[in-house]
Amino acid sequence: MATDTTFRGHVYDDITQTFGNTPCIRLRKVVGDAKATVIGKLENFNPLWSVKDRIGVAMIDAAEKAGKIGPNTLIVEPTSGNTGIGLAFTCAARGYKLAVAMPESMSLERQRLLKALGATLVLTPRELGMKGAVSKAMEMFQEAGGEPKAFIPQQFKNPANPDVHRRTTAEEIWRATGGTIDILVSGVGTGGTITGCGEVLKSRKPSVKCIAVEPTQSPVLTQHIVQGVPKDQVKPLGPHKIQGIGAGFVPDVLNTAIIDEVVQVTDDEAFEMGRRLAKEEGMLCGISCGAAAHAAVKIAHRPENAGKVIVVVLPDLGERYLSTALYPQD
Ligand code: PMP
Repeated sequence: MATDTTFRGHVYDDITQTFGNTPCIRLRKVVGDAKATVIGKLENFNPLWSVKDRIGVAMIDAAEKAGKIGPNTLIVEPTSGNTGIGLAFTCAARGYKLAVAMPESMSLERQRLLKALGATLVLTPRELGMKGAVSKAMEMFQEAGGEPKAFIPQQFKNPANPDVHRRTTAEEIWRATGGTIDILVSGVGTGGTITGCGEVLKSRKPSVKCIAVEPTQSPVLTQHIVQGVPKDQVKPLGPHKIQGIGAGFVPDVLNTAIIDEVVQVTDDEAFEMGRRLAKEEGMLCGISCGAAAHAAVKIAHRPENAGKVIVVVLPDLGERYLSTALYPQD
């Protein structure tokens, strides 16, 4: 039984107040005989079931505060889907118009959800990846007349993105683990989650290690952070299937200085662990959850990590992938 009264224990004025305070739950069977504790932070407890609900609200709050948006502003954003959905429920609740650009390779559920929440959706070519969505959104922003008629939150650059993780996600992890966390594992899309959480956790406890997870097919963090390739020269190897991470470039909001190690995960490893989380833990999680959990379990098996507390951020809900190969229809 949840007895924490901060967890949905009161009446809220609107849906945008309900993000965060997601539960931390131990992973058991998938951890096998590893001697470390692995705790999943289940971001699918957010109002529209992903970690990006936090930044959807935070980026709109910041724009309102800065006087950048009004009742007639068109909000435009490139997204792999979850940020679009986070912005869409916020815009619906607050009465703003939203148009998003998203690669056509993202799940059908994302497309339907965006439309259901009243957003205008423009699909961009699969082969152009997130870069294609970013340039299309810039085009839509210019076509709408630029600022102040339109506003583009730009999750890859917006300081409100890592900031909401500093204020909420990091605090929640610190509180839930009673400061016992030793290792944080997080996939990197914009890098907002790992940056915001990593900075706060390391400032409280400098021994905390931050492990970034990226698709094997998009090893841009390995190239930049491990091999020292300049940001503007990193290159993905090809398309990958881990929706939400591995944008193919090093995002501006990512604080590379807090990353201690980069772990690469293949599509197959991510899918396999995603399925195991559902069947063995009862956690219906998305593909990037599978990727992050795969990395966390691997790290948990290292002898030097015996007795350590590992927190892995599990970004979204498996129901968003029912139409994908994550859950084959047999
Ligand atoms: N997984 C999924 C499914 C996502 O949508 C995102 C955000 N794009 C992430 C992981 C990564 O989060 P962040 O952008 O904070 O790095």
